[in-house]
Amino acid sequence: MTTVLVVNSGSSSLKYQLLDGAEQVLASGLVERIGGAGSITHRGPGGEVTVAADVPNHRAALALMMATCTEHGPQLAPDVVGHRVVHGGARFSAPVVVDDEVEAAVEELAALAPLHNPPGLQGIRAARATFPGVPQVAVFDTAFHATMPPEARTYAVDADLAARRGIRRYGFHGTSHEYVSQETARFLGHAGRFVVLHLGNGASACAVSGGRSVATSMGLTPLEGLVMGTRGGDLDPGALLHLLRTGMTVDEVDTLLNRRSGLAGLTGTGDLRDVLAAAARGDAQAALALDVYAHRIRGYVGAYLAHLGGLDALVFTAGVGENSPEVRARVVEGLGHLGLVLAPARNEARGRGARLVSPDDAAVPVLVVPTDEELQIARHARAVTAG
Ligand code: AMP
Repeated sequence: MTTVLVVNSGSSSLKYQLLDGAEQVLASGLVERIGGAGSITHRGPGGEVTVAADVPNHRAALALMMATCTEHGPQLAPDVVGHRVVHGGARFSAPVVVDDEVEAAVEELAALAPLHNPPGLQGIRAARATFPGVPQVAVFDTAFHATMPPEARTYAVDADLAARRGIRRYGFHGTSHEYVSQETARFLGHAGRFVVLHLGNGASACAVSGGRSVATSMGLTPLEGLVMGTRGGDLDPGALLHLLRTGMTVDEVDTLLNRRSGLAGLTGTGDLRDVLAAAARGDAQAALALDVYAHRIRGYVGAYLAHLGGLDALVFTAGVGENSPEVRARVVEGLGHLGLVLAPARNEARGRGARLVSPDDAAVPVLVVPTDEELQIARHARAVTAG
């Protein structure tokens, strides 16, 4: 039975999960504030513990995870380690076993994903040093979207330049879109034409046909598409030229796009729960932010319905998609002419697992399908190293 350790490294955090061959979670946890005085929160057989510790780097984070497992269980002896890597570029269209060459390629791709690939690389390096001889598998957020047809992945810019510089749509959240579309197919009993809305802190839409991504809203980077917590999604590129020409620096524009946009830019908070609460209190700016948020999603649903030539399910996932009946209602409201309606009681009911939130006789089922990126990474890591 293969035990898989899944490692998801952020710039200052490291999430981990240990799964056995039956896909049971043996342990999970989070090391936070890597780079200084940090802490680990570990859930194992004995429950949850939080321990403060000095965590100078990702290697130290893995050492802390090992020490915590030794003290509180379970025994940590993975057969394979699966890593989340955000950007696989044009090179990686499937998970790969990491060797020195793959590691170098992931490092090169950091130019395309300066915020996202370096932490993944640090996690890989730390795990290779910590678990020598244990295969390490990189699972890329972009890989699921490698099936997008040329017209969906090509930006209409100078073709030579785009080819030389790798300027094209790659798409992200692929591990989530893949897992959720597979669970949707399992739930419905067929793999048809789905629109998956991954609405979390980051957010993206994906059109899936027969189990393959055919269009997605994030692009060269995770900045394009839907309105997110701190990223605004689609924006006229002319606005960036204007800001740069009128005195903003590249770094200031970077901060604007990654940190001061989206819900945070419009309302001061990137947490949708706070925006909903403010709107309920009569805050006009919060109400506008919710309107912009839903309007953008509805535009993508309509576009993808056209690309897919019909729709067999609309699927909500991630923090907002799974937990906010109000956002689901705002997205679906008035789309009855497309066959999209909610069953209000089902939409309001809390639940675990995949569930239907539309009436039984609706033309197009609307589902909530909880995502599980760690499980999908574990499945890939196991599959790539099997045999
Ligand atoms: P994720 O990135 O998938 O973990 O999603 C995180 C986001 O989900 C948070 O920023 C919250 O805004 C949002 N969220 C979580 N629970 C709820 C809820 N009950 N209602 C609305 N939004 C929620």
